[in-house]
Amino acid sequence: MKENPASKTIRDRLEPGALSVEGFLGHDDRPLADIIAADTGEVEAAGLTVEQLGAFLESLHEAADSGWEGRVPLFDGRIRVRVTETLGQTPCPFACGAHSHKAVVEVFDDKEQVLLRFTPLDAHLIRNHGFFEGKGAPYRIAPAELIELYRLCME
Ligand SMILES: [Zn+2]
Repeated sequence: MKENPASKTIRDRLEPGALSVEGFLGHDDRPLADIIAADTGEVEAAGLTVEQLGAFLESLHEAADSGWEGRVPLFDGRIRVRVTETLGQTPCPFACGAHSHKAVVEVFDDKEQVLLRFTPLDAHLIRNHGFFEGKGAPYRIAPAELIELYRLCME
């Protein structure tokens, strides 16, 4: 697929050093539209939507925020969440006008193993843009991993 000029601009904003030191694409050189289509397709094949998964992450972030950097048990103790806030906000690289707090949310299972690490921006990118980041990006969330966590909590 050929990239149109608008998605070229977005792609520039996803490169290392534009909005984040590491960037959002890792070593993924597929066109942005293909990255999004592949991940969104995987979610839909599992019978879910990116809106559901993004909203789920946002709810975990909100719950973690209530814990003052302690671990907050959720879903009958199946998981615990903890947020580490840093100062500042990051604008959405898709230039939709949204800003997300800079923070890292960690999700632990009942044996204190880390199941997932994500930023509030990831939740927004998944929910609003179907973007899980490129392969090799430090905060890429593999759709399969997120689907598994969602099911652990919701089913
Ligand atoms: Zn956005």
